[in-house]
Amino acid sequence: MNHEMLVDAKAVIGEGPVWDEQTQRLFWVDIKGCRIHRYDPASGLDEQIATPRMVGAVALRRDGSLVAALEDGFYRVDFTTAHIEEIWQTDQEAGNRFNDGKCDPDGRFWAGTMSLDGLRPSGALYRLDSDRSVRRLLSGVSISNGLAWSPDKKTVYYIDSPCREIWAFDYHPADTVLANKRTVVRTAGNEGVPDGMTIDSEGRLWVAHWGGSRICVYDPRSGKKLDEIIFPVEQVSSCTFGGKNLNDLYVTTAWNTLSDAARAEQPQAGALYRVRTAAQGFPADRYAG
Ligand code: CA
Repeated sequence: MNHEMLVDAKAVIGEGPVWDEQTQRLFWVDIKGCRIHRYDPASGLDEQIATPRMVGAVALRRDGSLVAALEDGFYRVDFTTAHIEEIWQTDQEAGNRFNDGKCDPDGRFWAGTMSLDGLRPSGALYRLDSDRSVRRLLSGVSISNGLAWSPDKKTVYYIDSPCREIWAFDYHPADTVLANKRTVVRTAGNEGVPDGMTIDSEGRLWVAHWGGSRICVYDPRSGKKLDEIIFPVEQVSSCTFGGKNLNDLYVTTAWNTLSDAARAEQPQAGALYRVRTAAQGFPADRYAG
């Protein structure tokens, strides 16, 4: 599988790609660059709007606008007008910021936090329900990252990056806590840390490896690595399926934490890539609030 660079965006931390199948465009964020991007593969145009604080993740809403996890809480974002409106702000996350997030199959937006220095397990995983109430599903998280739901929607996969593992929990729409945690994949120690992820129609996890220059494909039933795609940049941060048939893998990258020498060797760090695959993803779930 070959990668193709689409946008030489030089994002500080490109992240959170989400494919809008209604408009056939890709939203993605630059967390530390405080930008939300919208890429149109038909025209090659990549537009962006600024956010007032760091933006960890965005998800689609049913009305075509976005829900975003900014540093300190959840916001509604209209990309067309760049209007941003508060939904919920936390007062329990001093020294932390929101990071990766995604909608669940029942229309709730999940997003987790991490300490600003990335070193303390002071983060948590939250869920924003459609009535705008917020639940804390997990505490003691270090760097909250990838989320994916199994094809049968009975399992949720989750990554807390420094643990170098992918965990599974039972998923049921009525649950108010995450239960039955088990480790389904242990990643190799010399391939960076697992970061953002997505899942294909056969239940395989496509996982970005920050510091590992690759996307790895895992079978969570066996724990085995099935495949990998190597990139010319170290900080590969997240991926999602998009395109007409949901078989193009869109991949975000970053230059954050690279030395000047490393950046000179990886001039594409922060670019958006695409990989044509033989796999197929699912349409992104939308926030119902
Ligand atoms: Ca991430």
